[in-house]
Amino acid sequence: MRKIFFLALIPFIVHADAHIFVFHRFGDPHHTSTNTSIATLRSEFEFLKTNGYEVVSLIRVHQALLRQEEISDKWVVFTIDDSYKSFYDNALELFKEYAYPFTLFVYIEATDKKYGDFMTWEQIREAGQYGEIALHSYGHPHMVSLTTQEIKTDTDKAIASFEKQMGYTPEYYAYPYGEYNSEVREAIESYGFRLIVNQNSGAVSTASDSNDLDRIALTGENLLKEKLRIKHLPTEWITLQKWPDNSVLKTIHAKIPSEITSAEYFISGYGWKRIEVMNGEVEEEIDLPLIQTRTRLFLRDGRRQSSLILVKE
Ligand SMILES: [Zn+2]
Repeated sequence: MRKIFFLALIPFIVHADAHIFVFHRFGDPHHTSTNTSIATLRSEFEFLKTNGYEVVSLIRVHQALLRQEEISDKWVVFTIDDSYKSFYDNALELFKEYAYPFTLFVYIEATDKKYGDFMTWEQIREAGQYGEIALHSYGHPHMVSLTTQEIKTDTDKAIASFEKQMGYTPEYYAYPYGEYNSEVREAIESYGFRLIVNQNSGAVSTASDSNDLDRIALTGENLLKEKLRIKHLPTEWITLQKWPDNSVLKTIHAKIPSEITSAEYFISGYGWKRIEVMNGEVEEEIDLPLIQTRTRLFLRDGRRQSSLILVKE
């Protein structure tokens, strides 16, 4: 009896959470807001190595979610968006030196049309020997401004080019700019990708949705230690993931684990506010005009957090 009691408690005690990070440019000081210097990258790699972290591939996380295996607190996943040349020129060697896997999300049009700042297909295929190659749309559009048909046209074009150049079908998708709403999500989900990643700054646990995995941006200064402290707050958002009518957000509404009695929420431009939790439900009438065209909502209980992005269409 005692054994059963302990097993029942495990989901509430163990908050084992992996972290998926997203990078853009490396060693490219012309673009400070999306750049990670090679010195910073090396110090992050060294920190992970000396502190017992295991850098795993996205497929490993997918398998664990599928089989409902334990997700290790020590797992770190690296993803790189946009396939900028600076990844190939400056960072790939370091990933090889540490034998750290990665997933590269390719902005297909930039490579197809040979935009100067981006990797060539040949370089992408070479990078594919050390990491996974995946899809980051064809034209890198602001998805929320497109119709479902336009989203499908972009995605069909991206998949066709990827298949032609790589010889296989892409299995993961990352939203351009991390922007999506429920309609964009539905359109992308219809392709049956194994994983879809966002950029919502959260961790990954067994309760995570493989069609909506959070990633944490790791550009700029060395923030790794702080970001590794973020935990996953399993949340069912009832507030719709859609820009509200007249840009006024009427309510904050979500379901979170029932043992939580008090949480905090955040809205871009307004900061944090404490909120009571009744039987695992957070609900407050707010009637706030949204100030930023990319508004983030966060819900937090200590280090556990969940978030939603609302983008003006
Ligand atoms: Zn991008």
